[in-house]
Amino acid sequence: TGALRLSDGLLERRNRAFGAGAALFYETPLHIVRGEGAWLFDVDGRRYVDMYNNVPCVGHGNPRVAEAIGRQQGTLNVHSRYLHEDIIRLAERVAGLHGDFAQSVIFSCSGTEANEIALRMARMATGRRGILCTDATYHGNTELVGAMSGLPAGSERSPGFRSFPFPQTFRTPEPGLSGAALTEAYLVGLDRAMDALEASGDGIAALIVCSILANEGLPDLPPGFMGRAAERVRARGGLIIADEVQSGYGRTGQWWGYQVTGFTPDIVVTGKPMGNGVPLAATTASRALVETFRSRTRYFNTFASSPLQAAAGHAVLDEIESRDLLANAGRVGAFLKAELKARVGRWPGVADARGCGLFLGVEMVGPDGAPDLAAARAVCNGLKDRGFLTSNAGAFNNVVKIRPPLVFSQADAEAFLPAFDATLDTLHGAG
Ligand code: PMP
Repeated sequence: TGALRLSDGLLERRNRAFGAGAALFYETPLHIVRGEGAWLFDVDGRRYVDMYNNVPCVGHGNPRVAEAIGRQQGTLNVHSRYLHEDIIRLAERVAGLHGDFAQSVIFSCSGTEANEIALRMARMATGRRGILCTDATYHGNTELVGAMSGLPAGSERSPGFRSFPFPQTFRTPEPGLSGAALTEAYLVGLDRAMDALEASGDGIAALIVCSILANEGLPDLPPGFMGRAAERVRARGGLIIADEVQSGYGRTGQWWGYQVTGFTPDIVVTGKPMGNGVPLAATTASRALVETFRSRTRYFNTFASSPLQAAAGHAVLDEIESRDLLANAGRVGAFLKAELKARVGRWPGVADARGCGLFLGVEMVGPDGAPDLAAARAVCNGLKDRGFLTSNAGAFNNVVKIRPPLVFSQADAEAFLPAFDATLDTLHGAG
């Protein structure tokens, strides 16, 4: 069993090799050795349905991606200061997935890097420093980008950053607030953050936001919020950065999360799924914005814009397109969401089910309605014991996060539901 293997010393070796504190999922950690499509296999050959990982978007062990990167690495892999058609074509292809606002791309190796480029680009283009973000966001881990992560609501953050309360319909600022009044209430929060940036002399360079507020817990948004927020920020001269690291590349059943939540960005950041595991990220914007950045920085990133990134990037897009994975995400996601919604209230702790495409969340609460992190963890551990891998996320980490590879099938979804029910029955003493 997994527990026996752990007693073989792997966990102790990990703690020594990485230093204790490196994050690890599940009460009994999973020791995996192989993946295939939406499935993972542990050291004992037990199969798990992966309902968490969005990086292997076209499937674990995808043969087309494996063949493409193997072939490219055996042919040529080098930095970007040469002409190479495949990487140019990948930039054209990525920019072409957006509307007219985007023509040019800066490739990098992580979502963090791509966000850092976006922030600096916005600051250069506007000549202002102030960045607006939500109060429960995560955009990455460098000092600049990390300044936006995980600080209390409304705090000042690092100089030049201001957060505002993220919009949602589940826990409203005042009980009973809904519809247009709720939208207005959250816009006031945004206005206050903008006022503060202007008062401090920073001014407004940009609003950066995950298009579906994934790390905030995938809230249902008050009507029109994102479009109205973008208007408000633009009216004061700021740019809009859509962080599509989680929401992009077909996750929602559409190419981009901003299509779902209804706004048009100036700069788009993509990462995780672009290379199916090969580090590949992109900052996409108008040619003018990209050239402003390039002319001021002479930006160079050793591993970025390589033929290897290009090979992975094309193979991923080919897979998404030829297998119609956007439609799969839309169809299977809609089925699973409806099933989960039907389960809200069936057990007292299951308070809400929401999301879009193959990105769903189940909000767990205690008897008083407060966020119940322990329950979310217990659900994830119970599901894992039954062969389904999820994790927990959100502003309070009490949302069970369901975000499988895009190849997750209808059969996988149907197999998940009895496991979910059994897990909740056990949790509530009925199983
Ligand atoms: N943006 C968002 C919305 C993310 O969720 C993450 C990572 N979870 C990042 C950016 C950072 O990406 P990376 O880990 O590739 O640097």
